[in-house]
Amino acid sequence: MYLLIILSFIAWGMALIGLCSRRDIDVHSKISWLVVILVFHGIGAILYFLFSSNREPEDLDSTDDIYAPTTCMQCGSEIPAGKDTCDNCKWSYKA
Ligand SMILES: [Zn+2]
Repeated sequence: MYLLIILSFIAWGMALIGLCSRRDIDVHSKISWLVVILVFHGIGAILYFLFSSNREPEDLDSTDDIYAPTTCMQCGSEIPAGKDTCDNCKWSYKA
């Protein structure tokens, strides 16, 4: 029983660290997962591991970002695929 509690704490910590370091999911998904993990603790962490990676397997490679058009976080205009800097305001999501 103690082992289960320790494992759930480890899974919980890993889920929180993993979630915070992810840059491939938007803020809304991040907050949703944060709430799930905080409210359901170990179960939330397990849910995070089960569903967050299965839904978008390509997320594992963070360099995928530049191969798809994205939206500038600063001015909202579209950043074309293959670029990491906004043409409009020179904002870069690598900065
Ligand atoms: Zn911009």
